[in-house]
Amino acid sequence: MKHNFGAGPCILPKDVFAEASQAVVDFNGTGLSILEISHRSQEFEAVIQEAESLVRELLEVPDGYSILFLQGGASQQFAMVPFNLLPLGGRATYLDTGTWASKALKEAKKFGEVDVVATSSDRNYSYIPKSFTVPADAAYLHYTSNNTIFGTEIFDLPETDVPLVSDMSSDIFSRVVRVADHGLIYAGAQKNMGPAGATLVVVKDELLGKTGRTIPSIFDYQQHAKADSLYNTPPVFSIYVSMLNLRWLKAKGGVAVIEQENIIKARKLYEEIDRNSLFRGTAEVEDRSRMNVTFVMTRPELEAAFLALSEERGMVGLKGHRSVGGFRASIYNALGISSINALVDLMREFEEANR
Ligand code: PLP
Repeated sequence: MKHNFGAGPCILPKDVFAEASQAVVDFNGTGLSILEISHRSQEFEAVIQEAESLVRELLEVPDGYSILFLQGGASQQFAMVPFNLLPLGGRATYLDTGTWASKALKEAKKFGEVDVVATSSDRNYSYIPKSFTVPADAAYLHYTSNNTIFGTEIFDLPETDVPLVSDMSSDIFSRVVRVADHGLIYAGAQKNMGPAGATLVVVKDELLGKTGRTIPSIFDYQQHAKADSLYNTPPVFSIYVSMLNLRWLKAKGGVAVIEQENIIKARKLYEEIDRNSLFRGTAEVEDRSRMNVTFVMTRPELEAAFLALSEERGMVGLKGHRSVGGFRASIYNALGISSINALVDLMREFEEANR
């Protein structure tokens, strides 16, 4: 058995694969594969509508928000957000908490003035800046709720009256979020939603159409909202498997239930990192991510041996990102506690063997 600790694309529930595999052969008795069915067919319309209503239900999205399934990944949203929300001559604000946040603000600078309200780059993004001021005239404040590479997560929403825009690519559906406090939320599918290809956008309608810019239709949220995400051919398979995954999440009891599981899983792993003399967490304790657990060894010369042993035991994807080094255990929704236990046991065993 493999334990998939990959950061994304990453583990998805095995039950979902069984149904998705069947749909690749014959989708819902249509005699056609989900890979060849028209996105305008009744059968696919039912899929995208169910996906949308599952998002609405699981995230408790209030009225007045559109739910869109787009392409181009979260990276395309780095540009679409300012294109659609930053008025000509206006300014946007960004919280710089890691590589993805930096990339987002770099794109926004191509559209207008950008204020970085705070950054944690001084300590290699190992913490979340807590005190900063957001100018009242800013079009929005953008933050990255979970920093996939550096293993930090923002649990308390920034306090501001300007609309919040959040890149939730790596913690969406892992914990309860108050959508109503946000102007826009986006996430690439390939962590807790489904296979790579689709990008989820949840946007408050009243914020749109106010920039004074000419926006090409394909980058215009209003066009996609008007067409119910069928402005052009959407990523059919990714949306279908996302829908299956969201059904799985609903059957488990929803986001609040999985959040409790995620808290237990993360706690178990961090407790071992703190106890074990060979390992050390890299993120500030209060900002530790429940999705991406980053840690290094107190004796770096042992890192290669630990990684090799983990691979021998069927653990995949534990090598840390080059910006942090060491290890990163990505412990998304579908990763069972048995995989956490296997890693913790291995860490204990390794400590024993290297006394
Ligand atoms: N934002 C975050 C927080 C991410 O973790 C990633 C990818 O891992 C991205 C953005 C980029 O996503 P994409 O590859 O879908 O453009």
